[in-house]
Amino acid sequence: MAIQKLSIIIPAYNEGNTIHLILDKIKAVNLTNDIQKEIIIVNDCSKDNTEMAINAYRHANSELDIQYFKHDINKGKGAALHTGISKATGEYLIIQDADLEYDPEEYNDLLKPVVAGFADVVYGSRFMGSNPHRILFFWHTIGNRWLTFASNMFSNLNLTDMETCYKLFNTQIIQAIKLTEKRFGFEPEITIKISRIPKIRIYEVGISYYGRTYDEGKKIGWKDGVRAIYCILKYGLFKAR
Ligand code: UDP
Ligand code: MG
Repeated sequence: MAIQKLSIIIPAYNEGNTIHLILDKIKAVNLTNDIQKEIIIVNDCSKDNTEMAINAYRHANSELDIQYFKHDINKGKGAALHTGISKATGEYLIIQDADLEYDPEEYNDLLKPVVAGFADVVYGSRFMGSNPHRILFFWHTIGNRWLTFASNMFSNLNLTDMETCYKLFNTQIIQAIKLTEKRFGFEPEITIKISRIPKIRIYEVGISYYGRTYDEGKKIGWKDGVRAIYCILKYGLFKAR
């Protein structure tokens, strides 16, 4: 199946400082094989100027296919993604945080094994390849590696970066999965659930990482790491599907 459109799902919570910058980067990317872009923004009840920034951007860029949805209460990244995924109409979709930690130019790297006809799912790994990676928190890296290791044990996958934001999915496949984790538990839940799909073809490619600090707006915290362990056990051990 030739891919004609990529849906780009952006969960946004208090990202008024960067949302227009990431949209500019997405606008600038020319996707391989003339693939079109559909941008789906889910405002997870931001309390800052995120909505204003999005409206202004849409007004100034009416040629772009931007869909906008919002939550009445703050529900979490996972819940924002559930909303966005359900609205996607591209054959494939990718998850894009509203900050600048990842580089949209690299969509083409993730699309490569899809366009070549090999992949149903592609993860962008911050822990492989020679792309630039910002040097930041030691304990986060240990935490990420440990969570990936635990998730691999239950999913029997050999991923190097389960927690990465850049995950590209065949839209039909992900829309058929029942997802329940409303916050950062999304990552282990989806990883373990896709690993259970018979004959699924999962790939990984190296990506860059321009990590941000908490001063710069990062929201994930140690409690999310604890939740991730719980989710790996819950979905890996106790829930067959
Ligand atoms: N986010 C959200 N709802 C929340 C918390 C975060 O939609 O309650 C969004 C946030 O705006 C960002 C993405 O989820 O686009 C990931 O958040 P963050 O960058 O803090 O986490 P990390 O990149 O460390 O996983
Ligand atoms: Mg981020």
